[in-house]
Amino acid sequence: MAQRGNGCYRDPMSDSCYPGGCLCGAVRYEASGVPRYLCFCHCQSCRRAAGAPLVPWATFARAEVRITRGTLAQYRSSARVVRGFCAACGTSLTYLNEARGDDIDLTLASLDEPARLAPTMHLWVSDKLPWQSIDDGLPRYLEGVPPE
Ligand SMILES: [Zn+2]
Ligand SMILES: [Zn+2]
Repeated sequence: MAQRGNGCYRDPMSDSCYPGGCLCGAVRYEASGVPRYLCFCHCQSCRRAAGAPLVPWATFARAEVRITRGTLAQYRSSARVVRGFCAACGTSLTYLNEARGDDIDLTLASLDEPARLAPTMHLWVSDKLPWQSIDDGLPRYLEGVPPE
């Protein structure tokens, strides 16, 4: 991840600066630019990582995301995926898939102002729990990021 020089660094008051962090405050980040994807992920891996039935993600260019406080703890959750979290409080923060290594996904709900961005689609609906209903009218995909 870039240590400096993203859009927030140039202009922290910009509309395209998205600060966020974990529950305890030990890890803080800033993302900037326009998110490439905004989704709900229903996959089993996200479910376990977050202890939640689905996880909303915001995908940013990796060069536009930097850690501004603390250290992101990381672990490999599958062959080509590294997840980042706060080692002190456990909040899930990042998802890096080496198949699209120019991107990094941030847990949308860890943004300081998560209402500024809204998911636009549901991914991995094939893993969706039966008691989780979807009634928002957004597109649903049985598996991962749809081809562009
Ligand atoms: Zn924390
Ligand atoms: Zn997932």
